[in-house]
Formats: sequence, structure tokens, C-alpha cells
Amino acid sequence: MINALFAAHDTRWDTYAAPLKAAFQAKGLEVDLRQDFPPEAVDYIVYAPNSPLQDFAPYTRCKAVLNLWAGVERIVGNPTLTQPLCRMVDPGLTRSMVEWVTGHVLRYHLDIDASIARQDRWQPFVPPLAEERPVTFLGLGELGQACAQALTQLGFPVSGWARTPKDLPGVTCYHGPDGLEPALSAAEIVVLLLPDTKETENILGARTLAALPKGARILNPGRGPLIDDAALLAALDTGQVAHATLDVFRTEPLPAEHPYWAHPRVTVTPHIAAETRPITASRVIAENIHRGETDQPLLYLVDRLQGY
Ligand code: NDP
Repeated sequence: MINALFAAHDTRWDTYAAPLKAAFQAKGLEVDLRQDFPPEAVDYIVYAPNSPLQDFAPYTRCKAVLNLWAGVERIVGNPTLTQPLCRMVDPGLTRSMVEWVTGHVLRYHLDIDASIARQDRWQPFVPPLAEERPVTFLGLGELGQACAQALTQLGFPVSGWARTPKDLPGVTCYHGPDGLEPALSAAEIVVLLLPDTKETENILGARTLAALPKGARILNPGRGPLIDDAALLAALDTGQVAHATLDVFRTEPLPAEHPYWAHPRVTVTPHIAAETRPITASRVIAENIHRGETDQPLLYLVDRLQGY
């Protein structure tokens, strides 16, 4: 019997217990999944970073910590964590991010907000074709690549930027510090799908915002600290940035007094771009436990040095 500790906020147990048990059974794994075990008896920890569990040292037998979320910034630097850490790559979450990003890119591209606002007069305007609207992704990982591919299929000229070189069909790829400004220089819409690390904090700040064409639009479904908030507000006020749709923030929930709420050129969404989907995510957890038990390499291992 494999002992798996479910370490997450209590409300998650009701959502995940049945799908996890079903996924273990489908994989032929005999797993005892519980919210409580003596630490020395635990083989795997299924983890959500809002869990009260912060000291991993007593989990001496634990073979891996399996994160339920894609982002690992709240656990990756934990000095007590010596066990392998795997992040979540969930096909359901990825589809959800593709829908959110595609929806908001099309909203900007077709100026749907202006159409909704112009309900009192007949004033035709012709939006450009997708092929005339360059879109740039900062981050070309699991989510950035899936979204970039969806937009190339709609005809958008897509560029992307990552830490390491990439070769993706239909996507102009840039990498490293020198590639950032070239990636931004033609972008009418910028999508942030980077992890929150020391290197990516404030990546969109005064200098990089100034590198964009005037009137660019920003989508941030990545993480709040990727944006220097004061610099973005200044760029919105001058019109350098025409609009920003922000799903993630340094403090969540976004405090009621935050200037983003009232800003006429900001849309706030409450961290809903892509939720982990219990059924598909449970299959990923089961696959990794199966791999751990059969001495195969774990999927989606986090690189502690890089922080993602
Ligand atoms: P991945 O780890 O697969 O991809 C991260 C990408 O960022 C990679 O292309 C990586 O480059 C790039 N990157 C990292 N550091 C740097 C750097 N210093 N310079 C340039 N590029 C860098 O992550 P995912 O695509 O799965 O997820 C991205 C983020 O999306 C998550 O970390 C999370 O914060 C956020 N997210 C938000 C959700 C929401 O609901 N709003 C839901 C899920 C995730 P390289 O390819 O070279 O390694």
C-alpha cells in the first residue's frame, strides 16, 4: 500500500478525493489517500501551496511532492523541502488557459469593448484582419506554447520569448535578455505567461513598456509580480498602453482600494484564467506516483535553481 498525504486547504478535499481515488484505481495503484498521516509513513505528498504544511523535514520517506498548481513560487524556495518537487501540467488547465487568452485577444482585436460601449449610435468601423495584429508571448512553456499555437491557427503573427532557444512552427522565437526588446517592439498585444521568479519580477516595467508600440494591450494571466504596477499605471495614463486585462496580482484578492479596480483602461479578472481541473489533474498525479513506484523519471520536475 502506498501512503499519499493530501495536503491542501480542507475545501479541496471534497473536490479532489474522488477523482484522485478513481485515477489511482484506473492506474492499478493501491493508494491510501488521507488528509492526515504520521509524517514518517508518507510516500507522496499531493500539495496545494495554501496548505498549512510548510515543514517537509519530517517526511523522511516521501519520494515526491506533487503540486496541484502550475505555479510553484510559494513552495520552491522552502528550505525544508529536499524531496523532488513536481509542478502541475494538466491538459484541462491548459485548455482553459487557451480559451481565456484567445477570448481576450479576440476581444482586443475586434474592439468588442468599444462595440458594447457604442450602443447609442450607428458608427461603422473595420477591424484589421488577425494577420495584421502582432501578438507576443513572454513565456513559451506549456501554456505559452499552447496559446501561441491557437493564435497562429487564427492567423495572428505570433512571437514569443523564453529563457532558452525555441523552434516552434509559425512562431518567431526570441530568448534571453537580449531577445526581450526585439520580441516586444512590434507587439500590439502582449501576453504574460512566465513563472514568478527572481529573474522575471517586474519584467514588464518602465523600460519594457516603452519598447512596445504606442497603444499596445497587455494580458497578464501569469503572476502579479511580473508587472511593475506603478509603471503600468503610468503607461496607461499616457496612452502608451491602451488597456490591460489582469488576472493575477501581487496581493490576492486584489484589495478594494487598489487603483486597478477603478481604472477605465483596466479589466480585473479574479485569478480565473485557468483552474486546475480535478479529473485531468488527478490522472497526472496518478501517472507520477506510478512512475515513482516503477523507478521511471518523474514528469514536470521543478528546477530549484531556476525556480520553475
Ligand atoms: P512553464 O514552466 O512550462 O513555462 C515557463 C516559460 O517561462 C518557459 O518558456 C520559460 O523559458 C520561460 N521563462 C522562465 N524564466 C524566464 C526568464 N528568466 N527569461 C525568459 N523566459 C523565462 O510554465 P507554464 O507555461 O505551465 O505556466 C506559466 C505560468 O502561468 C505559471 O508559472 C503560473 O505562474 C501561471 N499560471 C496562471 C494560471 C492562472 O489561472 N492565472 C493558471 C496556471 C498557471 P524556457 O522554456 O526557456 O524554460
